[in-house]
Amino acid sequence: MGVFGIIGNEKTNVASSVYYGLYALQHRGQESCGISVNDDGVIHTYKDTGLVNDVFTSQKLESLGQGTMAIGHVRYGTMGTKGRVNAEPLVVNHTKGHLAIATNGRLVNGSVLKQELELKGMIFHTSSDAEIVSYVVIQERLNSVSIEQAVNKAMDKLKGGFCMLLMSPKKIIAVRDEQGFHPLCYGKRENGEYVIASESCALDSVGATFIRDLEPGEILVFSKEGITSIRDHCQKKPEALCVFEYVYTARPDSIISGCSVHAARKKAGAYLSTVKPVEADVVVGVPDSGLDAALGYAEASGIPYGIGLLKNKYIGRTFIAPGQNVREDKVRIKLNPVKETVNGKRVVLVDDSIVRGTTCARIVKLLRNAGATEVHLRSSAPPFVNPCYYGTDIDSKENLIACLHTEDEIAKIVGVDSLAYLNLEDVTKIGASGHCTGYCTACFDGNYPTETPKMIINKYENKLSESEK
Ligand code: AMP
Repeated sequence: MGVFGIIGNEKTNVASSVYYGLYALQHRGQESCGISVNDDGVIHTYKDTGLVNDVFTSQKLESLGQGTMAIGHVRYGTMGTKGRVNAEPLVVNHTKGHLAIATNGRLVNGSVLKQELELKGMIFHTSSDAEIVSYVVIQERLNSVSIEQAVNKAMDKLKGGFCMLLMSPKKIIAVRDEQGFHPLCYGKRENGEYVIASESCALDSVGATFIRDLEPGEILVFSKEGITSIRDHCQKKPEALCVFEYVYTARPDSIISGCSVHAARKKAGAYLSTVKPVEADVVVGVPDSGLDAALGYAEASGIPYGIGLLKNKYIGRTFIAPGQNVREDKVRIKLNPVKETVNGKRVVLVDDSIVRGTTCARIVKLLRNAGATEVHLRSSAPPFVNPCYYGTDIDSKENLIACLHTEDEIAKIVGVDSLAYLNLEDVTKIGASGHCTGYCTACFDGNYPTETPKMIINKYENKLSESEK
C-alpha cells in the first residue's frame, strides 16, 4: 500500500498533485485508490476499486476542487480486506471535526483492538485497519488538546508495521510505526508545498526535493505554522525495516533509508552470483523486479547481461490477480522471450523471489521454447517460508513452494538445471550503504520483530477468561 500527502499555504490544484503521486506509487497497490481534498476544513473524497488512471478521470479530479492540502492512497488488498468498502482514505466525522486517514501496512493487534471496541458498542463498516485507527485516535481525541496529542497517545495502543497520514481540518499528521517497517519520507516543492510519500519516487513525480525519511516512531505534524516533530515513540525499539521493500516492493528509483533500491538490488545480484556459481552465456532478469539484481549478477560474475524477456508494460503485477487460472493467463500475456538473446544459450535467470513457483515455471518453459539450452534459476531473495503480518500478502504455507519441497525438488518442478537463493545473511547487507540499523526478515527466517497476531489474541483470551473466574 502507498500513501501520499501534500500541504501548502495557498489553495492549489492539490488533487492533481496527489494523482501524480499515487500514479508513481501504483506499484505498491492496484486494488483501489482514493484522494481526499481539504478545502477550508471541508473534506471532499473520491475513491474506488481500480488503477489510479482508471478511477480518476479529469472530471473526477476537478470535482474534488482546490484546497490547501490533500492525502491519497493506493491499496494492495491483503487477505480479507479487498473491495470498494475498504478503499482509503477513510473519512470520519467526530465531535471535534473531520478526519481523513490513509494507511500503509498492518496492525498486529488489529483484531483484538476491534473486539475491544465492538464490546464497547462500536460498529465497523470495513475490514480495514484504517477504521480501527480512526476509533482509537478519536477516542483519544476526546481527552486531548490536539489531534497530534491524540495520535501520540494512540501510538501506545497501535502495534504492528504501519505508516499513516491523517488529515484534520488544519493539519496533516504523518506517522511511522516504532520499528519503521515501511518507508515514509517527505520533501518540499519550489512553491513551498510540503509533500509526504511512501517512497521518494513519488516526491520526484511532483517535483519535490527530498528532505528526509521519517524516523521510526516519529510523528510529523504539518500545518500553516510549519512542521513539528513528536519523537516520544522514537528509539524505543530496534529498527525493523521490511527487507522485502528493497527486494521487491519499492521502485528501483526510490531511495529508502539513504540507500538506492536499485543499488540494493544490484548488490543482491552480486551476492547471489557467489552462491552455486555456474558457467553460462547470458544473465537474464525477470522484468521488472528481477532486472536490477540480474545486472548486479552479470557485473559480478562477468557473464554478459542480456534482455531475454520482454514485458507488456500495460499489465499489473501478476500476484495481485485473484484465482490461479487468471494468474497463469496473466503470465502468458505479460512476458515474451527475446529469441535472439536466449537461443542456443545457457541462461542464468534471475528473479526477485519465488513464492508459489507458478511464474518462474512458466517463464522457464518460455525460455526453453525459445531455444535456451540450459536454465539456471537464481532468486535474489531467500526462500519464502513464513507469513507476513506487516502488510505484505505472502501466501499461506500450503502455497509456498519452499515450505513444501526441497531445493532439488523445486528445481525439478519448475524445470531448471539448477536453483539457488540469496543467503539469509546476505539479504540484510543489501541496504548497507544506507543508514538503516535493522531489518525485518520474518518471511524468510520466522524472526518476527513484534508479537504475532496469534500471540496477542491468545494473551487477550487468557485475560478475558481470568477476569471471568
Ligand atoms: P510465484 O513464484 O509464481 O508465486 O511468483 C513470484 C513472483 O511474484 C516474483 O517474481 C515476484 O515478482 C512476485 N511477488 C513476490 N511476492 C509478492 C507479493 N507479496 N505480492 C505481489 N507479488 C509478489
